[in-house]
This record gives sequence, structure tokens and C-alpha cells, in this order.
Amino acid sequence: MPIPDLPTLTFADSEEHSLLTRKFGREIANYFSGSPLNRLSFLRADTAFLRAAFSHPRARFLLLNALAPLVQAADTAQLAFAMHADVAPLTGTEGPFARTEEEMIAQYDSSEEGVIIVFLGVDEAGVLDASSSSTSKEVEVEEFRYRDFKGTPYFAVDVTPRGKLAGAAEGVIKAMKEKGFAFHDHSPRHMGLHAGQAAIYGQARALVDWNTRTPFCAQCGQPTLSVQAGTKRVCPPTDRAGGQVRDRKPCATRGTVSNHSFPRTDPTVIMAVISADGTKILLGRQRRWPKYWFSTLAGFQEPGESIEEAVRREVWEESGVKVGRVVLHSSQPWPFPASLMIGAIGQALPGEGEKIYLGHDAELESAKWFPLEEVKEALEKGTSGLGEAAPEGYVEGALRLPPQTAIANRLMTAVVEGWWIPSRM
Ligand SMILES: [Zn+2]
Repeated sequence: MPIPDLPTLTFADSEEHSLLTRKFGREIANYFSGSPLNRLSFLRADTAFLRAAFSHPRARFLLLNALAPLVQAADTAQLAFAMHADVAPLTGTEGPFARTEEEMIAQYDSSEEGVIIVFLGVDEAGVLDASSSSTSKEVEVEEFRYRDFKGTPYFAVDVTPRGKLAGAAEGVIKAMKEKGFAFHDHSPRHMGLHAGQAAIYGQARALVDWNTRTPFCAQCGQPTLSVQAGTKRVCPPTDRAGGQVRDRKPCATRGTVSNHSFPRTDPTVIMAVISADGTKILLGRQRRWPKYWFSTLAGFQEPGESIEEAVRREVWEESGVKVGRVVLHSSQPWPFPASLMIGAIGQALPGEGEKIYLGHDAELESAKWFPLEEVKEALEKGTSGLGEAAPEGYVEGALRLPPQTAIANRLMTAVVEGWWIPSRM
């Protein structure tokens, strides 16, 4: 599979005039960012908006089957989108938006099985319309408008067959396959979507997965209800299951100071560490990786720790190297399942600070200092997806690295291009 493109910034043309760009270098947009959708998060509590958007003939639905998105069968790098008529047999005409959030909570019935539906946003510029909907033969329908907003509304719908709705879900899946679409696994080993579409898929995947895996209240353990178009779960005070309204156990999330339950984003630090003199870069490898494959070090950000401290701690724990100054480079949403990769560049302390010691933590099989020239060559000739073969022209035994869709690759590229040297522009 060819390595996909990277997102471009909407303000890229004006960036050379930016004072911040002159001072700190260009902004880096990583794969899984750069969605063309305006999320309009402030409208997620507006039921009239959601109802109108969901049932509009221009609305588009990204279907996920066991988290695999619907794509064009002939081109798996292109997402495919269903229309309202395709999903209605599973979701109903108005989806969960027939009722307001207050009504949904007041009428909560834990024995009801709902479809997970997430409002993703509105494509205001119409960039997705041309390439990837299931509607090429559709007659022109009027654009969706609400208040000052117009464009094509996008939703994600979980069509994984389960429970009482399994039959309806299977019907939708079958109908889409008959139309020439397929569900394609876009897990990290098989990434290939075009940049803007990868960002839409990332948002949909993270939220559908979170709703699926979080059916119970983290505070009290009772079942919860998905509200705000799939971006929040609440713990209702009553339950109508069995035909009788009964009070549920008290729960602190219903108080005035409430944390409800919101989707997780787990920050992870990932860092290119340069030697004290700036001529080498520290890379590590895990046992399960292919031969000769290395990458930058990474680890989870812990509570009560700054990003810079997490970088210094992780590097020391995994490799024994002591890092001094740390600068932030860029970040990358990583929806497998809910990470945010925070990319940094750090500089090792001279002398003893550069000494590698793997005895603290068993995570790495090996860590090494690589001369920048060797990394530069590997970035040109030795990158590929983790599950894929080395690229053509790769010489056995040479360093192998992750592709440009991985922030690790962007960090190494920044280092070999001399990103940290001031006044480059
Ligand atoms: Zn609760």
C-alpha cells in the first residue's frame, strides 16, 4: 500500500508572514489531524440542530463495523459514506435525536438497546462531496443550513451487529456491500486513508470505541446513556426497565459539581533525543519489531507531571540517558484507542548523561546513538509501515524507520533537517 499524504494547514499560504513561524519554525500537521469538518461542538446539546442535520438528505454517515470504516471497494484509501436512507432501517428516521437530552434522561430505560451515533461535524467547503459519497446519481438537493452554518453534516454510525439490533445492522452492511463498498481494517498496521479522511476516521473511531467500551458509570458502576451526539455519557437518576419507573442508586455525577463521563484522551510523549553536540540521535527498538527497525522513544504522560518532565523521565527509565532542555515540536491524534502523541525534541546532557543503560525498564531490547547521516539515509530509503515489507531499494542490514504518517518520522526529519537551529527561515 502506498504511504498516504500528510495534511496541509489551512493557513499554509500565509505562514511565511507569521511572526511565530519566523521565531519557532513552521507548524507541523501530522497524520490523523487536519479534518475538513467543523465540529460545531457547541451545537451538540441543540436537539433541533441534530435532528435536522441527521435527517437531511445531504447528511453523510461514516459506518464502522467492528471499527473498520466503510471504503470504496476499488480504492481502500477513500472513505465511503452512506446516506440517510441507507442507515434509517437501523437508526430510525431521527436517530436518537427525536428527544431532547432532558427527555432521554427522564425516560431512560436500561433495557433499550441504542445504536451508537456520533455527530462529527459539517463540511462547510464541500471538499468531501465530490470524491466519496454513495450518491453520485443523486439529484441535487438543497444544502443543509442552520443558523449561520451551512454545508454537509457528517455522522458516524456503529453498524457492528450486536444484540436485538444485529439483524438490522447486518441488513445495512449487506446493502452497502451490494453498492460496491467494503469495510477495511485501518488499524495502525494498515493505514492508508487520504490525510483529511484519516482525521475524520480518527474522530469517529475514537468516539465509537469509547462509547462501546464505556457502558457503565465510572463513579457508581450503573449503566450510562450516550448523549450530546455521542460525546458524553450520563448516569440517569431513574430507570423504566420492566415497565416501572424506579430510582437508581445515588451517584455523585448527578450533583451540582459533576464530572459526568467524557471521552478519554491519553497523552503520550514521544521524543527525538539528540546528543549533547547535536550530531547523533537516540533511537530504541522493541523485541517484537522487524529486524533493523528502530524508532524514537515514547511513553505515557503521568498525572502530576509536565510534558518536559515526562520526556526526561521516560528517556532515563528506558535508556538511562539524561535529557536536559526539551522543546515541543508537534502533536498527533492517535485513535488506537485514544492517545494524543506529544512530539518533543530533547538534548542529552554531555558526558555521563549520554551513557546508555537498559537495566531500569525491560521495554527496549536495544537503544543506540545513530549519526544523523545514517538516520537521514534511512528516512530516504528505509521507511515503511510496521507490518509491511521494506521499500524497494532498501539494503538488508541498514536502519529501518517508521513512515511519514508516524510522528516519530516527523521528529527525526526535523532533527536531520536542523529544525532546532534558530533563525533557519
Ligand atoms: Zn453513576
